[in-house]
Amino acid sequence: MEVQVAIIGGGASAVSILYSLNKVLDKALDYRINIDIYEPNKEVGRGLAYIEDSEIIKLNRPPIDMSIDIQNKNHFLDWVSKNAKDLYDFSEYLPRSLYGKYLNVNYLETSTSLLKKNIKVNHIREKVRGIKKVTSELYKVLSSGNKESYYNFVILAIGGKNNDDPYDLMEDPNFINEPYPLEEKLYHLKPDDKVGVIGSSLTAIDVFLYLKQKNVKKCTMLSRSGQLPSVRGLDSDINLHYLKEKILRCKNVNLECLLTLFLKEFEEKSISWKEVFLEKNEEENYTTFSKKIRLAKENNTWFDVLRETHPILDEIWVCLNDEERKYFVKRLLPLYIPRRAAIPLINAREILDSLETKDLQIIGGLQRIEQYKNRFRTCFSNNQDNQSFDIIINATGLSGENTNNELIETMLEDNLISTHIAGGIRVDFNTGSVISNENKTNPNIKAIGHITSGNFFVVNNLEFIAKKSFEISCDLANHIKNNIMSKEFA
Ligand SMILES: Cc1cc2nc3c(=O)[nH]c(=O)nc-3n(C[C@H](O)[C@H](O)[C@H](O)COP(=O)(O)OP(=O)(O)OC[C@H]3O[C@@H](n4cnc5c(N)ncnc54)[C@H](O)[C@@H]3O)c2cc1C
Repeated sequence: MEVQVAIIGGGASAVSILYSLNKVLDKALDYRINIDIYEPNKEVGRGLAYIEDSEIIKLNRPPIDMSIDIQNKNHFLDWVSKNAKDLYDFSEYLPRSLYGKYLNVNYLETSTSLLKKNIKVNHIREKVRGIKKVTSELYKVLSSGNKESYYNFVILAIGGKNNDDPYDLMEDPNFINEPYPLEEKLYHLKPDDKVGVIGSSLTAIDVFLYLKQKNVKKCTMLSRSGQLPSVRGLDSDINLHYLKEKILRCKNVNLECLLTLFLKEFEEKSISWKEVFLEKNEEENYTTFSKKIRLAKENNTWFDVLRETHPILDEIWVCLNDEERKYFVKRLLPLYIPRRAAIPLINAREILDSLETKDLQIIGGLQRIEQYKNRFRTCFSNNQDNQSFDIIINATGLSGENTNNELIETMLEDNLISTHIAGGIRVDFNTGSVISNENKTNPNIKAIGHITSGNFFVVNNLEFIAKKSFEISCDLANHIKNNIMSKEFA
C-alpha cells in the first residue's frame, strides 16, 4: 500500500514541511509514502527569495529567526558554523543565496533520511496547471507536458509572484521587469547609466546595493510613498507587560483593545509611538534617513516590541472579525510592514552615504512612467520632479493579488478552494486544510505561505513558514496514519 502526496512548489515551505514530517514520523513505517515535489526550477529550496545570486543581498532577519526547525532556533546558525564558518561574520546578516544552499542541503539530507523510513521523495521539474477532484480521497494533478498523476494529499506551497510590469513597459529592452538574480539581470548596466528603480522597499534596496557595488552612480528610487523602510538596531531581550499572551487570551480581543494595549506597551517602555509610526510623510532624504538610523542606534526597543509581539499577533488575528481585518490590511499594515521589515544598520549606512553624495535619490508621488525618445520619462503628482532615465528596473516586490494564477483560478472554479475576504484562499488556522464555499474543511488539500495571506497576520517570513509547516506535517501524518488501514487508498 502506498500513499501518494504532491507538494506543489519547491521553495522554503516545501523543505520545511519535509523537514517537519521527518521529525514527526520518527520511525520506519510499515507502509510506503511517495512524495512528489513539483518545482520547475533545478534546485528545491531556493524558491523566489533564495536563488543563487550576489552575496551583497542579505536576509532581512538575523540567522536565529531563519531556522526551519521550530524546536531549535540555532539550526541555520549551526549549519553555517559547520559548513562555512570562516567565510562569514556571524554578527552580520547572512547572504540570501547562502540560505538557499542551507535549504537545498536540508532537502537532500531530509529526503535521504525519509527514504530509510519508507518515504520516497521525488523532484518533478514541472509546473502544475490544475488540480481536479476524483473522489474526496483522490486528486488528479495536471502538470506541464499534459501529464496527469493521482494523489491522496496535495499541499499548495506555490509562494507569491512579483508585481508584473506596473507601467506597461514590458516591450522595451531597457525595462527590467524581474531583477533577480541581480547578477544575471543587471550585469550589463554601466557606471554612467541613469537608472530608475521602481519602489523604495526591500527589493529596491537589494537593487540599489548591487548597483552601488557595480559603481552605477545615478540611481533614483521612484515610488508612491517616497519612503524607505525603518532601520533595525541591535536586538535586546524585553519583557512585555500588556501584549502578553495570557492577558490577550483572557480578553475578548478586538482591534480597538489591541491597539490600546499596543500604545500602553509603548508608553510603559517610554517609546514615542508617534515618532516610530507617524513620521511626517515627506520624501526620504539624508536628514530624514539619518533620524531613522539614530532611532535604531539609540533606542531599538520599539523594534524589540514588534519582534516579540509578532507571534502573539498571529494568534489574535484569527479573533478579529472580517471588517477589522479588512481595516487593518488597508490602513495599519502599510504602517506596520516597513517597520517590522526594517533593514539592518549595515545596509542603512550604505544608503545614507549615497544619499549624502546624491548618488541615490528617492522621489515619491510617482504616477506613471512612459517611453520617450528611446528613454523613459517619469510623471509625478507634483509635476516638478519629472525626469528621464536610460534604464528602468521594476523592484516593487511581491504582488498583493495572489489568487490570479492559472492553478488557483481553476481550483476556485471547481470549488475545491474559496477566497478569503482579506486576501488569498481560506484555510483552517491550525492545519492549513483548505475550506470550500460551503465551509467544508478538506484535510486532503492543504495550503501554506503567501496564498493563505488573509487567514494570518503576516505570512511572508521564515518563522511563520516553519511554524505552519510543523502544524501541517503533524496533521498530515495523523490523517495518513488514521486512514492507512482503510481501503480508501487501494
Ligand atoms: C526577494 C525576497 C526576499 C525575501 N527575504 C526574506 C528574508 O530575508 N527572510 C524571511 O524570513 N523571508 C524572506 N522572504 C519571504 C519568503 O517569501 C519566505 O521566507 C519563503 O521563502 C516563502 O517560501 P515559499 O516556499 O512559500 O515560497 P517560494 O520560496 O516563493 O517558493 C514557491 C515555489 O513554488 C514554485 N511554484 C509556483 N507555482 C507553481 C506551480 N504551479 N507548479 C509548480 N511549482 C510552482 C515556484 O517556482 C517557487 O520555487 C523574501 C521574499 C522575497 C520575494
